[in-house]
Amino acid sequence: GLCQQAAFMLSAARVEQCPADDGREVAFAGRSNAGKSSALNTLTHASLARTSKTPGRTQLLNFFRLDDERRLVDLPGYGYAKVPIPLKQHWQHHLEAYLGSRRSLAGVVLLMDIRHPLTDFDRMMLDWAGASGMPMHILLTKADKLAFGAAKNALLKVRQDIQQGWGEGVSIQLFSAPKRQGIEEAHGVLAHWLGL
Ligand code: GDP
Repeated sequence: GLCQQAAFMLSAARVEQCPADDGREVAFAGRSNAGKSSALNTLTHASLARTSKTPGRTQLLNFFRLDDERRLVDLPGYGYAKVPIPLKQHWQHHLEAYLGSRRSLAGVVLLMDIRHPLTDFDRMMLDWAGASGMPMHILLTKADKLAFGAAKNALLKVRQDIQQGWGEGVSIQLFSAPKRQGIEEAHGVLAHWLGL
């Protein structure tokens, strides 16, 4: 599949440094430690996101090329206590500028730890997706940390909360990187958004 061929493209500290805004891209967002790097690596069969954690590349946006017309984008993880407030404000400003202006953005994958869903950051992203009409797909990560029944119940609960709070346009699934659970379902969403 196309995702196997993902390769690091460029790191942008500001919106102006993003690649040309044509074709299609899908962005990955999540609070720090939600499992975004593990999910990106599992979905692409590459160590993409380790790249994103390399010092000097912990910038605003990391772009990965799939083909001439398609990209994945790793948005910065929020919630690192160590990040100074001016840097957080810098990120927020440029994240908003990116989300608000990027025409090639076809959808956002939002990662949530199944044991800590719907953080303030997640709610902010869901509010934005609802207001802008951006399709959003949620991966409830680390599903292997719960027993099968508990994970299913958590999925139903979060799905219900999201339908009540944000209505349609948001889909959600279970995901586990070590168990390789949920890969086909996530690939299906990516393929649809990327026009494959
Ligand atoms: P990020 O900060 O969102 O990029 O999170 P990482 O992918 O670096 O994961 C944070 C921690 O959670 C690491 O210790 C991972 O090994 C662990 N982790 C990530 N995904 C899973 C998962 O699906 N299952 C389990 N059990 N641990 C996970």
